[in-house]
Amino acid sequence: APAEDAGPAAARLMPSVPPQVEQILSEFRLKEEDLKKVMYRMQKEMDRGLKLETHEEASVKMLPTYVRSTPEGSEVGDFLSLDLGGTNFRVMLVKVGEGEEGQWKVKTKHQMYSIPEDAMTGTAEMRPGGGGEVATLRGPVVGTVASRGQWEGGGQPPAKAGPPLFQLFDYISECISDFLDKHQMKHKKLPLGFTFSFPVRHEDIDKVRGWPGGTRTRESPWPSYTPSPILVLPSLQGILLNWTKGFKASGAEGNNVVGLLRDAIKRRGVRRSYGLCRYRSGGEIPAPPALPTTGPPEPGASPGRVAPCACTHVCVTACTRPRPRGPPPAPDPLAAGQPGPPARPRWSLSPPQDFEMDVVAMVNDTVATMISCYYEDHRCEVGMIVGTGCNACYMEEMQNVELVEGDEGRMCVNTEWGAFGASGELDEFLLEYDRVVDETSLNPGQQLYEKIIGGKYMGEIVRLVLLKLVDENLLFNGEASEKLKTRGTFETRFMSQIESDSGDRKQIYNILTAFELLPSGTDCDIVRMVCESVSTRAAQMCSAGLAGVINRMRESRSQETLKITVGVDGSVYKLHPSFKDRFHATVRQLTPGCDITFIQSEEGSGRGAALISAVACKMACMMGQ
Ligand code: BGC
Ligand code: MG
Repeated sequence: APAEDAGPAAARLMPSVPPQVEQILSEFRLKEEDLKKVMYRMQKEMDRGLKLETHEEASVKMLPTYVRSTPEGSEVGDFLSLDLGGTNFRVMLVKVGEGEEGQWKVKTKHQMYSIPEDAMTGTAEMRPGGGGEVATLRGPVVGTVASRGQWEGGGQPPAKAGPPLFQLFDYISECISDFLDKHQMKHKKLPLGFTFSFPVRHEDIDKVRGWPGGTRTRESPWPSYTPSPILVLPSLQGILLNWTKGFKASGAEGNNVVGLLRDAIKRRGVRRSYGLCRYRSGGEIPAPPALPTTGPPEPGASPGRVAPCACTHVCVTACTRPRPRGPPPAPDPLAAGQPGPPARPRWSLSPPQDFEMDVVAMVNDTVATMISCYYEDHRCEVGMIVGTGCNACYMEEMQNVELVEGDEGRMCVNTEWGAFGASGELDEFLLEYDRVVDETSLNPGQQLYEKIIGGKYMGEIVRLVLLKLVDENLLFNGEASEKLKTRGTFETRFMSQIESDSGDRKQIYNILTAFELLPSGTDCDIVRMVCESVSTRAAQMCSAGLAGVINRMRESRSQETLKITVGVDGSVYKLHPSFKDRFHATVRQLTPGCDITFIQSEEGSGRGAALISAVACKMACMMGQ
């Protein structure tokens, strides 16, 4: 095929797409009745997910978030947000405060960190329990963790060990440390909100924290501020049900995620206290003073006198807060005359931490998105993500949330609709490409709905269709390049670029030549058609899901017309040139009697987590003190 065909001059050539191509692509087309079928089945699964009796077997889990309508107001101040669940990990500083006219004002600083493959899929590691010894981690502050997580204690790592050490969470705390350094905030103990975009089963906050009047206290440095949001009472305790989107760090499933994060932060502390202080150009942390000779230290006490520490980072939290020492215990008569235990440096009893964080909230990204949009538009009671993965949450009537006691008001339910299809609900719509994507994924048989829509998978579907067309001798003269034959090479962002081609095929041509292909003009047109088929099907499938949610809301509120706002985030929704429009049109077509406004969330994950944290802090202050 003459390559010149595909240059700008090719714009004048009429596409001559063979009918066999049309035929192959027609399989991606969905009729309105197909979409309705998907919608009804989705609604049925949602219903089953909400009901106690059927919850276990339902494919759509409908997880209660404990974020509900309460008029509690919130704190103002600085919050740190973490966002884990897409291709990047983000750390963000959010100021929650009062703007002019009493509005909320949220400012952000943020930093993106890429997640190394081996941190995503890394295995659980063990660290020695007890004793003074700790495993030392090597490696750069931010970068690959490939070389990290090795036992350096000499000899074999102990067979039986303490809590598992997760590379992923170590990497996260490493990133937080880096962020705090950059913004000179190591000395602050900020409240932290964690957006964790995976299926998490939250537990009842009252049971977990012992509220009200219970165990949780924190001093609030900020004045309270009450603008009366719908929300929030997030639950901190949450068990990861399963990984999605190519994450597979082992040993994390079934664990309490906040616990994993706290442990990772603590591990840094322990390590630092024995290691070098990197803030003092590699100098040692000043040695703790010699033990006083009278009376053993109280467990947990830090030294009363500490050599003045010039280090403004690592040591500050430990050095400036000496705890009062209790009275010396009565001498043990049995021990009289015996030599006492060897003196241990008391420093080790309360090691300084690299940094301290007060994890106050953990939410799904859909929930964070909904909350962040809620502050602009109080009709926002649905949050949706179409990015690497796909999911939605919405405010459900409490009486329908059978997993949680109480009938008053509404609670936000994380649908986890990406799992739809696991019981065969989508079988009749799945094509050979979908099955290959599923079989070669890290979670075969799971998240089938998500695998049709999510950015993690769409590009791969396109690649498989292209290979099929090559096989049938309908594309690239029947020859595929090595690169095209390699799994995962065709990224979803290429679809966006190809479908935004202005008509001169230049962008398409450039992408394909980067794949070591020599496309003709017709090849370019076919590739574009393939992309359009795959992304249109995704938009329509996704519409069926959202229409299911919105129609359900309208029915349960028995309103003539439901006026509702949906907060949306995610790279596919935001960056694809036509996903949004096709999606909106199909949703509206499937939801008669509903007046839907879509708003795009900006930094929703980070801002939403901070806003929820702010409310959580207020609740803690009110109830815990
Ligand atoms: C996860 C959801 C998440 C969605 C979007 C899915 O894979 O299961 O919890 O909301 O991706 O990030
Ligand atoms: Mg996200």
